[in-house]
Amino acid sequence: MKRGNYPHTLHLIWIKPGGENLSKNVYLELASYLSMVYLGWLSNIEDLVKLLQLSFTPEEARALLSVPAKPVPVELTSISEIAATASMPEKELEPILDRLAERGFLYTGEMENGEKGYALLRRGYGFTQAWFWAGKRDALTKKFVDIYWKYHFPDKGDVSPQNFRYIPINISIESLQPEQAIYPHEMIVEIVRKARKIAVAHCACRVRYELANGEHCGHPEEVCIKFNELAEQLIRAGLAREVSKEEALDIIRKTEEAGLVHFTDNTQEGILHNCNCCGCACWNLGAIKRRMVPRDQIIATYFLRETDEELCTACGSCVDICPVDAVSLDDIAVVDEDWCVGCGLCIAQCSSEAITLKRRSDAVPPETFESLHRERERAYEAIRVRTRER
Ligand code: SF4
Ligand code: SF4
Repeated sequence: MKRGNYPHTLHLIWIKPGGENLSKNVYLELASYLSMVYLGWLSNIEDLVKLLQLSFTPEEARALLSVPAKPVPVELTSISEIAATASMPEKELEPILDRLAERGFLYTGEMENGEKGYALLRRGYGFTQAWFWAGKRDALTKKFVDIYWKYHFPDKGDVSPQNFRYIPINISIESLQPEQAIYPHEMIVEIVRKARKIAVAHCACRVRYELANGEHCGHPEEVCIKFNELAEQLIRAGLAREVSKEEALDIIRKTEEAGLVHFTDNTQEGILHNCNCCGCACWNLGAIKRRMVPRDQIIATYFLRETDEELCTACGSCVDICPVDAVSLDDIAVVDEDWCVGCGLCIAQCSSEAITLKRRSDAVPPETFESLHRERERAYEAIRVRTRER
């Protein structure tokens, strides 16, 4: 089997299939490929091999292995190119790829030239979420959770621009200083209004948390909102249900009431998903709350909280609501700006109107979904070059 030319430079293990161990080798190759490209946190390949054996037939594993990882998560590769890599006739390969797409592991669509194409949905866009988005609690999902919690640690790649960013809850928009404009891409309501198609899935983090801990964290679970191409893909795969704009806005409102934090793709246009995160179960806020990873290494934060010393009565109401424990009480409320994520949840708690959000800098998110991921790829390539030179 030939490999696509990207990003095999990352591969640490390359095992040629053949002989009686053909099937096992396909899974080993796939585990190695996914570990390096998508599941960077799974350092124990053998455990991942077992999970892949339970999840995919050898033919499916071979097909997945032949879909190249491209910088942009939904960037398509033609079936003819995948068939050449897999050394399989297109007729034989197509139903296998379609089956994988139906289960949410591949994204499929029409390329500019009209040809059918597929993309391997990377971390955050399908791998590993496809196991959890439907909210199932079956044996395979539990098996994956065991592996996830054994080996997961947040990505410490420190790659800028970050994949995702926090955006303030709606109530804080009025709480910005007059000179601090808020752009449409910073308003979750505008993102929902502009969407062509919307779907809601179960929060993968809360499903994992319950399966791992035996109890739910208590926050709403069906609140993981997908837009446009990703929404269509998840609806087709039965991993999410379509919702109207009104229902999506209602979900957003409920997440704010529940003290959840909005995050989206770190881009101005082409946003594909919005998660609504808590400090107990979620991979990002949880890691920040527990001070496992510096905030700026994993999520972009464009706003910070400010407290008016004259107005603050030190009532303490804003301390408990902070999802990352960034507020302490002295004579007045004190915010640790190294950990505040600018979510604005504390504003609604303050009856003294002492809290505002300030823009952290002039930085703005990359303009498009594609430019975000191309910038990230360039940053990764720079890291690879530095690593090779050492
Ligand atoms: S809620 Fe307002 S008044 Fe109370 S401690 Fe926080 S900032 Fe001060
Ligand atoms: S202090 Fe806490 S609740 Fe307030 S904006 Fe910062 S992270 Fe959000």
